[in-house]
Amino acid sequence: MSEDIFKQVVSHAKEYGFVFPSSEIYDGLGAVYDYGQNGVELKNNLRQYWWKAMTQLHENIVGIDAAIFMHPKTWKASGHVDGFSDPMIDNKDSKKRYRADQLLEDKIARYEKDGKTQKAEQLQHELDQALLDSNLVQLKTLIEQHEIVCPISGTRNWTDVRQFNLMFSTEMGAMAEDADKIYLRPETAQGIFVNFLNVQKTGRMKIPFGIAQTGKAFRNEIIARQFIMRMREFEQMEMQFFVRPGTQKHWYEYWKEARLNWHKKLGLGEQNYRYHDHVKLAHYADAAVDIEFNFPFGFKELEGIHSRTDFDLRNHQELSGKKLQFFDNELDESGKPYGNYIPYVVETSVGLDRLFLAVLCASYKEEEVINEDKKDTRVVLTIPPVLAPYKVAVFPLTKKDGLPEVARNIINDLKIDYTCFYEEKDAIGKRYRRQDAIGTPFCITVDHESLENQTVTIRYRDSMKQERIAIADIKKILADEINWHKLLA
Ligand code: ATP
Repeated sequence: MSEDIFKQVVSHAKEYGFVFPSSEIYDGLGAVYDYGQNGVELKNNLRQYWWKAMTQLHENIVGIDAAIFMHPKTWKASGHVDGFSDPMIDNKDSKKRYRADQLLEDKIARYEKDGKTQKAEQLQHELDQALLDSNLVQLKTLIEQHEIVCPISGTRNWTDVRQFNLMFSTEMGAMAEDADKIYLRPETAQGIFVNFLNVQKTGRMKIPFGIAQTGKAFRNEIIARQFIMRMREFEQMEMQFFVRPGTQKHWYEYWKEARLNWHKKLGLGEQNYRYHDHVKLAHYADAAVDIEFNFPFGFKELEGIHSRTDFDLRNHQELSGKKLQFFDNELDESGKPYGNYIPYVVETSVGLDRLFLAVLCASYKEEEVINEDKKDTRVVLTIPPVLAPYKVAVFPLTKKDGLPEVARNIINDLKIDYTCFYEEKDAIGKRYRRQDAIGTPFCITVDHESLENQTVTIRYRDSMKQERIAIADIKKILADEINWHKLLA
């Protein structure tokens, strides 16, 4: 899929009520978006797909919903206060701000495009090293050495590279002088770590076990690009899996495979996924991999799987003074109980908005069709039926002769189980196209014959095939096609 198609996807998302720029009447707010009437349904369904796969299908994984605000010490213990920053650089002429590493990544991509593979590899290596060492001077040197210019001003008049903390802060308490600086959480994971013992004790959980959570996270990204790919307010779906030290490698491999399979079941094309193993690891991780998706602008991170050792629990234990340990009464090889320890953690972390974007991009199709003997194009979203915003649309052929009443009766019979759409305006062909554009898998048309023999026409979104079926059979046909088994079994 090309970048041109991506532009179409973005405007389609707005035109059909999937995603709107935030506060659009005030010209929007940078990298913040709202989900519209169809977007919210698709997003809810994707969240449900994740939630069911995690909690319903694993008896040793339970969910929580922690608050966005957390005690400020949380972010000290997690390392976010001191280390959650991106290197930024300003161009003095255009006054534009950039992420220093991003400028270098773009240069690497350009070298690769021009066939300068060796140069690209060398720069990638130097960039990785500079980032790992947090060596800001070296980042500036690389920018100068590779003669990187500002895309706006075209000059190389750069400031020094500085660190920019990505956390949003605010004050808690009504009185300014009593105010305490707190942060909007930059990840949902810490809400799970601080509740580790609460859940373990009250749920009588035995290691290995997991805690899952979905919710908003906030990052003051320096540059926001590619629509909902990189937002300042976004939603994460994270699961922390607590394991016995020494078994983390096994569980890391388990989750690496399980998560890729989960993505593949969406049917967006197996060739559109790949692993990106982290060669250089953060000091607390002993293994990390990204699952990347082939977005129209290239393969980019969709989900991260990280083996985080006992870094988070150990730091929270130290800073809070509360023991965050598990008593393991299973016997080791020598016949003694494993006893007390701080569990190791393997985490899976996926961005719901990025997942939404992947589904939208891969299911957006412009197809040539024949319409009344003429060539025509239709836009269709081939979203898996169980995830589609509307499952079925019901149309009376005309607004009279009792046809709307029959259509309404059909909807009344279906609406507890399925999201239904009713429409009686315009020609049937036009109504079909509007449903194709929002991904409705089934349309049912009520006509005069329906009054005589209790049958309707069902039209399938993907094949555009039409069939005459008995009204009494609608429920069975829908139940066969719209169910979680197709994704979860
Ligand atoms: P990136 O390298 O793209 O900034 P990250 O490695 O910082 O991502 P994590 O901290 O591992 O991301 O977060 C886990 C997941 O959360 C990511 O895989 C991504 O899907 C999602 N995510 C992270 N930052 C954003 C953002 N600004 N907007 C939307 N989704 C995000």
